[in-house]
Amino acid sequence: MNKYLFDGFHKYVAGTSDDPMNIEIEKAVGMHLYSPEGKSYLDLIAGISVCNMGHSHPVIVDAVKKQVEKYMHVMAYGEIIQESQVELARLLCQQLPPSLSSVFFVNSGSEAVEGALKLAKRATGRHEIVYCDKAYHGCTHGAMSVMGCESFKAAFQPLLPETKAIRFGVMEDLEQITSKTACFIVEAVQGEAGVRIASKEYWQAVRKRCDETGALLVLDEIQTGLGRTGKLFCFEHYDIVPDILLLAKALGGGLPLGALHDPALGHITTFGGHPVSCAAALAHLKLIVEGRLWENADEKGAELEKMMLQLPDVVEVRRIGLLMAVQFADSVTSLKTFKIKKWLSKGIFTDWFLFCDSALRVAPPLIISDEDLDELRNMLF
Ligand code: PMP
Repeated sequence: MNKYLFDGFHKYVAGTSDDPMNIEIEKAVGMHLYSPEGKSYLDLIAGISVCNMGHSHPVIVDAVKKQVEKYMHVMAYGEIIQESQVELARLLCQQLPPSLSSVFFVNSGSEAVEGALKLAKRATGRHEIVYCDKAYHGCTHGAMSVMGCESFKAAFQPLLPETKAIRFGVMEDLEQITSKTACFIVEAVQGEAGVRIASKEYWQAVRKRCDETGALLVLDEIQTGLGRTGKLFCFEHYDIVPDILLLAKALGGGLPLGALHDPALGHITTFGGHPVSCAAALAHLKLIVEGRLWENADEKGAELEKMMLQLPDVVEVRRIGLLMAVQFADSVTSLKTFKIKKWLSKGIFTDWFLFCDSALRVAPPLIISDEDLDELRNMLF
């Protein structure tokens, strides 16, 4: 038994899950995580769509070390020139359409969401916010106000007023975005709902409706950004450009970092755009762009989907690039106990979704290779 399990982990570290994985990770390299006992796990989650270049990539580790040796925190965000921050903002803006031409750095996905909701209210002078059923945008008060799960929110009411939920991917519901709406906040692919993907026609209609009504389109690419869906940004699949783009998770290359497009906000943050996070993020983004990693996401995603469909109890796979929900007929109890823990014991690291209790999350680092797929096949069959 792990020495920290009851004397430490369950005693001093406040948790979020009533049934955590309870394994210790001592080191992580490339596609693999290792326990102190030497057991290895093939990583099919990437820290929930974070570690797109795998773990301990030497170029990212080196960039972090170099930045740490120069300086860490020196001043609250926005006051002084910090090379890693400026270079990251420049490289990011170079990958984006001209209308998304500046970046406001924050610490997390939730903070990016908070910033976007505030920005939308200030820019439009309106208060109403439209969001989607089964949406997940984070757990701070504003982000939770636009969470598409009433039971999750119940203990924290009242949240933000004038919020309105519509069904994701349903054209007729877009009529509920009106000239009273400050913004429509929506995930490019619904992640925690269990990888729900809307059609290109839907996205075109979303853009049109926002243009007609003057509502801002806030696109949450916190889980889909940085190559995961087979394009650097998921909105490229849909031929639309959002008004406000939200990034976090993979953006930091393994360190905490969030970003939103923002010309002039009204948000203040001490640690946003931390120079060490920006150094890691810059190295990570360069590796993704130079290696065109989104192409591997598409290619290996298709192979992985085929493999998952061969499992006897799988009824469906919903996938875009390397973001995948493997759908079983079972419900959550058996999923957590029998699938995730059984796969863990075989050496496969997977996870579940917040709002879809019968599917496994499969979203490995984008560097996954044919050898890794062979290793997975051997463990599964
Ligand atoms: N938006 C989406 C789509 C997410 O998946 C998440 C995190 N799972 C968030 C926002 C919140 O990000 P964070 O946990 O960094 O606050």
